[in-house]
Amino acid sequence: MHYYIWTLGCQMNTADSQRLASELERLGHRATLDPDAADIMVVNTCVVRQSAEDKAYGRLEAMRQLKEKQPSRIIGVMGCLVGVRDPLHLRQKLPYVDVFMAPSEPGPMVQFLQERGYEAEWVAEEADRRRQRDALQDGDIILPVHEQGQLVSAHVPVVYGCSHACTFCIIPFRRGVERSRSVGEIVAHVRSLARQGVKEVTLLGQIVDRYGKDIPDGPDLADLLRVVHSVAEEEGVLRVRFLTSHPNWMSEKILRTVAELPRLMPQIEVPIQAGDDEVLARMRRGYTADQYRRLVEKIRAIIPNVAIHTDVIVGFPGETHEQFLKTYAILEELRLDKVHLARYSPRPNTVSERRMVDDVSEDEKKARHEMLEALQAEILAQSNRRHLGQVVEVLVEDQQKGKWRGRTPQNKLVFFEAEGDWRGQLVQVEITWTGPWSMQARLPQTERHDTPLLSIS
Ligand code: SF4
Repeated sequence: MHYYIWTLGCQMNTADSQRLASELERLGHRATLDPDAADIMVVNTCVVRQSAEDKAYGRLEAMRQLKEKQPSRIIGVMGCLVGVRDPLHLRQKLPYVDVFMAPSEPGPMVQFLQERGYEAEWVAEEADRRRQRDALQDGDIILPVHEQGQLVSAHVPVVYGCSHACTFCIIPFRRGVERSRSVGEIVAHVRSLARQGVKEVTLLGQIVDRYGKDIPDGPDLADLLRVVHSVAEEEGVLRVRFLTSHPNWMSEKILRTVAELPRLMPQIEVPIQAGDDEVLARMRRGYTADQYRRLVEKIRAIIPNVAIHTDVIVGFPGETHEQFLKTYAILEELRLDKVHLARYSPRPNTVSERRMVDDVSEDEKKARHEMLEALQAEILAQSNRRHLGQVVEVLVEDQQKGKWRGRTPQNKLVFFEAEGDWRGQLVQVEITWTGPWSMQARLPQTERHDTPLLSIS
């Protein structure tokens, strides 16, 4: 049978969809790039904001109509719309859905297919794949055929769930408390991706710095990064990243490990969310604006050329214009390399939804969002302009509209035109144009296609 997975939301959902695809491949099913040709259809959902939840229901309605056309189709829904508790209300609301899967839990789909004998009849050329499949260890992942040798960058969850309790956040309710994966499982995951051509892995967690905190005498994130780095050296993985950090759990040990190990990229993703201490307190973030400022100074002091990415919510209940201007001011001062902006959206059962009034109007949220967006565009235009004429190293991910697309160690987007196949290669390119969100480049005159310059020792 053929399957198709729609993935909405965050990188954790991308990794969860990859795990589901791997389980379906294990059963002998094949990915199709055409949803109309799919016998098994799954939407992996996000509910972090109302707009994301609306999108999930829109996708489900489209799947319902496709099932009406072909009733034998199997429909599955996964992710944060389902959550970790029994989705009884969803079963009643979505009677045409066959399988409900909690975030990161493909098991119910595997069970559903096995109980109905939907395990593909293996034909001759499938025999190797069966042997391959049977040699798999826990943690191994099978990429769909169309991704093998094609997928350059992949995500590897290391901590599931979150035990923090930010008042605006639905994630702990839908993904449960934090649970670290074992080092062995993570290593097997990274090795299996590397053997299918992946050149960059990003370790994921809602608070990735809390890796191992729930394992008695367990390794911490810095220890895990060191292990993954040596696996990367062995298996030819060129770059390792990790996200998302939290100011309260970002340790000097983690920063020094990033500064020391060459395949760990100089990029730190640490949300600030707001610039006013009273708002931060009501968000229950657990730090002040000044503590965040000092953390940024420390990160920049320890990791040369580091890029710092952050998240900001505008229009949190009760946020006055003056308090918003403090967010504006600290972003203007710190000049961070990326700001993921969001407008506050009350989520079911969160503390802010139950106890606070969503009193900032949508127009005002929009205006604040646009002000920060304009500020960030100015900051990035200036910081990218520094690269004009410079030669930077890019890991090439794919080709778009005839141009190769890749990223610098700081995760800046670069496009260049060149003959030949550069996918999955590290290449030195000369920056010829810069904008706030991306840069254009060309191969330096010396660069001949058949000898790409690998800069990592
Ligand atoms: S740290 Fe806060 S915002 Fe992040 S996932 Fe946990 S509860 Fe949500």
